[in-house]
Amino acid sequence: MAEILVLVEHRNGTVSRPTLEALTAARAVGEPVAVVLGAAAEECVSRLGEYGAAEVLLCTDPAVTEVVVAGVVDVLSTVVRERTPAAVLVVASAEGKEIAGRLAVRLGSGVLTDAVGISVDDTGVRVRQAIFGGSTVVTSRVRRGVPVVSWRPNAVRAEAAPGTPRVTPIAAPPGADRQARVTATRVAAGGGRPALNEASVVVAGGRGVGSAENFALIEELADVLGGAVGASRAATDAGWLPHTAQVGQTGATVSPDLYIACGISGAIQHVAGMQTAKTIVAINKDPEAPIFQIADFGIVGDLHRVVPALIREIRRRRE
Ligand code: FAD
Repeated sequence: MAEILVLVEHRNGTVSRPTLEALTAARAVGEPVAVVLGAAAEECVSRLGEYGAAEVLLCTDPAVTEVVVAGVVDVLSTVVRERTPAAVLVVASAEGKEIAGRLAVRLGSGVLTDAVGISVDDTGVRVRQAIFGGSTVVTSRVRRGVPVVSWRPNAVRAEAAPGTPRVTPIAAPPGADRQARVTATRVAAGGGRPALNEASVVVAGGRGVGSAENFALIEELADVLGGAVGASRAATDAGWLPHTAQVGQTGATVSPDLYIACGISGAIQHVAGMQTAKTIVAINKDPEAPIFQIADFGIVGDLHRVVPALIREIRRRRE
């Protein structure tokens, strides 16, 4: 069985859910080999074994782990040259996308972005890609070299396949570009909420929310559902939330189980970032708002009345 390299995203040894999804996808077409970098890399091993990694390559050398992006590319390109896997899977996060692009250039191959499916035939790995903001799915392959695949979070459900992986320490390759260094420990944004592109519930607010202060309501709904907070560009441009919360063509692409759009009209550029959500709920006072065309459930009403009522009802049912 051909090897599929999976780059592991983790925070201090806690493996991200999209990584487990990528491992699940890799297992379907080959033997997953996980590559983990960082001081806490070893803490990831048992979790990676639980999700079917046949082997875990560990790199704890600060010469690469304290370097932004370039160090990861150095390690991955060295491993690819040594082992010639059938493909490299990288989570399609902001950092993952940058790694994927740089790695493909280094390998002289190509990137298949926003992958939602993977298969193998005589010609090698084929990938189903969600393009045009997820409105179209195409099947693509890279014709030269080892394809680099950026795997879209929430495209598949992570499924466990417990095993005990081989563990292989690897050294940092010498003499690479190490200009940009991590100078402070990374901190999780969002007050302990899940990351926007990993969350299974996203509650998003738009211009209809009215002010930065009013976003407390959106955050409260997100918190009772254990979700992340998103926003339309109108809300981030107004400075009500940081741009990292923006969902859409020029923001994050999310595919949660549940997306609740509050006071968002449903402009095509917003829809491009969330239309693959499994269930979409829209709350808008305008019954003609385009968001209702893609919503599974629509509530026509003032969000300042509807959202508190929703929060009360969710809490009541939990008691
Ligand atoms: P509006 O379109 O103004 O809609 C506000 C909605 O709130 C209305 O439907 C209104 O009926 C409703 N409302 C008002 N008050 C209430 C209330 N009290 N209760 C309930 N409903 C209420 N946009 C993005 O979101 N993400 C992107 O990535 C993005 N990228 C872009 C890229 C380009 C190149 C361009 C040109 C635009 C982009 N936009 C993006 C902007 C996009 O076109 C829209 O302008 C934006 O999405 C509108 O945000 P909105 O729905 O919050 O605001």
